[in-house]
Amino acid sequence: MLTLEKFSVGVGDRFAHQAKAQLQACMMAAARGVTVIPVWNKSHREHGIVGSEPASVRAAADRAVRQSGWTQPYHVDADHINLATVERFIDSSDFYTLDVAAAIGQPAELDCRDAFIERHPELRGTVSIPGIGQPFTLDRDAIAQIVRKYLAAVQQAGAIYRHVDQRRGGRGFITEVSMDETDAPQSPPELLVILAAISDQKIPIQTIAPKFTGRFNKGVDYVGDVVQFEKEFCADLAVIAFAIRQYGLPANLKLSVHSGSDKFSIYAPIRRALQKFDAGLHLKTAGTTWLEELIGLAEAGGPGLDLAKQVYAKAFENRDALCKPYATVIDIDYAKLPGPAVVNAWSSEQYTSALRHDRKNSGFNRDLRQLLHVGFKVAAQMGGKYLTMLDTCEASISRNVTENLFERHIKPLFLA
Ligand SMILES: [Zn+2]
Repeated sequence: MLTLEKFSVGVGDRFAHQAKAQLQACMMAAARGVTVIPVWNKSHREHGIVGSEPASVRAAADRAVRQSGWTQPYHVDADHINLATVERFIDSSDFYTLDVAAAIGQPAELDCRDAFIERHPELRGTVSIPGIGQPFTLDRDAIAQIVRKYLAAVQQAGAIYRHVDQRRGGRGFITEVSMDETDAPQSPPELLVILAAISDQKIPIQTIAPKFTGRFNKGVDYVGDVVQFEKEFCADLAVIAFAIRQYGLPANLKLSVHSGSDKFSIYAPIRRALQKFDAGLHLKTAGTTWLEELIGLAEAGGPGLDLAKQVYAKAFENRDALCKPYATVIDIDYAKLPGPAVVNAWSSEQYTSALRHDRKNSGFNRDLRQLLHVGFKVAAQMGGKYLTMLDTCEASISRNVTENLFERHIKPLFLA
């Protein structure tokens, strides 16, 4: 088994041009004495939209590591895969995010559910978990309800894990299980039952991505009750520490926060919780880097700014189609989107003010930011024209990519 370090950051590099600038942010953390391991993630869906192959992510990561002299581990994540989509990731990834959210709510066979409940008398009654003030009280019915909702999903995770393990033929890898792309959040007692089931499936799980309370929209801040979030996040950490001991799960098992970029209002609560439980964290960010590419293009002015405006105009025109696959993770008020004619008249500063995630800037527009977040397909369709401009504007882009990752993400979460 390959072991994931305590702190790690998932970075997305849609057009395979920013790995070095992203790695630079991890090197800045290392220079301050904190190891944050980079994990390049790209989902099957993103590969489909961009028209890329998983091997390109591995190649870009390897190149960045070689050129930068990074001597610590790094990984390539087959993000949100299932049995139908994992095959193309087998050789190039060493981290697998088994997405079983679609199986939540599909009841497993009745005898499997009954067998689970019989096998786990420790879940019944009062369960006292260190770090949680109020013990859980679960009767047979309550457990049965949770099992009905989640057991099939965990069985499916087991099937994907065993398939990957067999196909990898002894090459080590890291396993994450994700349940975030669903409607209802998982409560701490549900997480405990899920971890018991994961242990039964013998999945050497190192990170788990539950759906947390509140909304994790792409590229913008957390929307929800921050106090409630912190309470549940702490309870989740307590459950994980307990489950590691109770069920013999890997000692480095930690939470993975998906759509984790730009959630500035919960970084301080997360940081406090990690310190309290001496816990690790995997923070998945992906699209935030692509937005920094656009900011860097706009900042460069001239043809870079022109291209950034063309991307906006096309994204605006195709907003319905672009938003559709991401409906559960964006929240865009169309009325607040400026028309392309308005944006076409913008200066570099107006464009970057609208897009850069700086809540203190009165020009910041979260609706425009979310639209562009899901608008990378537009750049993908521009093909060579877009990629050439990334090279032309490399200096301003890489500066923004590194600063965004380090100042706005790594620093408040891992160094504060
Ligand atoms: Zn996710």
